[in-house]
Amino acid sequence: AHLPEHIRARVQDHPCYSEEAHHHFARMHVAVAPACNIQCHYCNRKYDCSNESRPGVVSELLTPEQAVRKTLAVAAAIPQMSVLGIAGPGDPLANPERTFATFRMLSEQAPDIKLCVSTNGLALPECVDELARHNIDHVTITINCVDPEIGARIYPWIFWNHRRMRGVEAARILVEQQQKGLEMLTARGILVKVNSVMIPGINDEHLKEVSKVVKAKGAFLHNVMPLIAEAEHGTYFGLTGQREPTAAELETLQEACAGDMAMMRHCRQCRADAVGMLGEDRGAEFTLDKIDALEV
Ligand code: SF4
Ligand code: SF4
Repeated sequence: AHLPEHIRARVQDHPCYSEEAHHHFARMHVAVAPACNIQCHYCNRKYDCSNESRPGVVSELLTPEQAVRKTLAVAAAIPQMSVLGIAGPGDPLANPERTFATFRMLSEQAPDIKLCVSTNGLALPECVDELARHNIDHVTITINCVDPEIGARIYPWIFWNHRRMRGVEAARILVEQQQKGLEMLTARGILVKVNSVMIPGINDEHLKEVSKVVKAKGAFLHNVMPLIAEAEHGTYFGLTGQREPTAAELETLQEACAGDMAMMRHCRQCRADAVGMLGEDRGAEFTLDKIDALEV
């Protein structure tokens, strides 16, 4: 990734944003956020949020207190632990009490650990002030489209102002909230990474436009991830037989989006409770019963 110097300096110990750092620093996710405020066609709620996470097994849902205990235990056991993220299993900002209670306690008890969060963006604008207050300097927004017509083929509904909304109107609100949130974050100097899920025949061509737009608004990294359409993950409903992109298609799109913008190529789509260096998952060593035994 060709990051500008001032951004490189800020992300040098962040395993996800620096290709060098991901060999030397570890990250962990805590699964404190069960609810979601939208529906993605590719999501299967039996697994973690596909915003960031590889579907497979449901993460062990933690209370904020348990998440803090787990983080402190991991930080004691893995000295390279530099980043704590909240990425699911639902949308962290659709669970603001749980998410912000976790950040609040951690910024008091472990001020050296960097905090980050990923979101679908619907509730982002109303959360920006609180994110800035907790000293969160990295936010990931999953943006799959900037065109509501395409959005309507990806998102069957959103939950907005206490009611469920559908179709192009719902997608338009989601797109607007994502873009507004992105602008508000970059205006405050908070680093924003954009994730996009490449869905062949739906948004694959369109993602080049998405890349241009988010880059113009100050996102520092664009991470195009392949749709994961494993049988046990469920079909892309409404469109049975939705296929995954091939490795070659993904690479071609990543090239096309790159331009002079940094593209992330080493994201592993980690689980919502991943622990350790990128590419390894030591989560099984730090389940709640094991942490209790560690008595941190
Ligand atoms: Fe599922 Fe995540 Fe989409 Fe919510 S934002 S529907 S949890 S993939
Ligand atoms: Fe980093 Fe990607 Fe894993 Fe998130 S999902 S911790 S961005 S590698």
